[in-house]
Amino acid sequence: MSILFLNPVLKTTVWGGTRLKEYGYDLPSNKVGECWGISAHPNGDCEVAEGEYKGAKLSTLWAEHRELFDNVKGEQFPLLTKIIAAEQDLSIQVHPDNDYAGKNENGSLGKMECWYVLDADPNTNIIVGHNAQNDDELKSMIDNHQFKELIRETPIKKGDFFQINPGTVHAIKGGTVILETQQSSDITYRLYDYDRLDNGKLRELHLDKSKDVIVSPYKAPSLHPNGYKETANKAFDELVNTEYYTVWKLALNGEYKLIQDQHFMLVSVVEGNGEINGHVVAKGSHFIICSDEENVDLRGDMTLIISSVN
Ligand code: ZN
Repeated sequence: MSILFLNPVLKTTVWGGTRLKEYGYDLPSNKVGECWGISAHPNGDCEVAEGEYKGAKLSTLWAEHRELFDNVKGEQFPLLTKIIAAEQDLSIQVHPDNDYAGKNENGSLGKMECWYVLDADPNTNIIVGHNAQNDDELKSMIDNHQFKELIRETPIKKGDFFQINPGTVHAIKGGTVILETQQSSDITYRLYDYDRLDNGKLRELHLDKSKDVIVSPYKAPSLHPNGYKETANKAFDELVNTEYYTVWKLALNGEYKLIQDQHFMLVSVVEGNGEINGHVVAKGSHFIICSDEENVDLRGDMTLIISSVN
């Protein structure tokens, strides 16, 4: 019977701050931008916090105990869950798909990701998509440095949700906190950095690769292109169902019998606190309900973001 409680990996970034303290983490600096809550990626491989597998890296369990994950195939643990808290604007970027990354980035996975907005300061915008009508217009706007005209900004508020397909121009701005569910990849092409200086220098841009992968024109993706994923958990609110992942929100008030009917479930507590099978959890807890754990007792007043690989 396995629920893997994980120690998150905290990342210091140029645009980070101290807001992740709200999630109960001890911050290693006052510029922390990311918490990798559920990750087996080499750039942030989470350790199991307690129990039979205490101290094991998630990548090791994936390699040596695949039965915990319903014997799902694949060399790498497929998903990565992060909480991102931006004090300053992030550079504007785009990710490749599996095909392009596999050919051009040493066999890496591409990156599809999605964002659940946990918090946003008043009057905060998010960047999702661009305004070029076709590839030629996109290339000419990039060549002419018309980034302000190119990027597409949208106002956001807590509870909003965005699906970011590979090839989508995107960025969050200062004052935004999101939970990101993504393919386990760290391949990013930087398109524009607001001409900011970092230690007196412009940060490197990846304009040719960006031109290769950006899809024009931008079209908002369907969140349920192949319908809704089957689950016995009627209280789950499906946010997105793609070829790589399904993400649900569960707003819990009281008791709930969760039925683990996926390969395995990645769970993050994003608000409130409670218990899972008698184990206390709170805002900022991350864990995996493994394939052998079929019935889970939840109680409390909390909001969970749950994902599963497809
Ligand atoms: Zn991204």
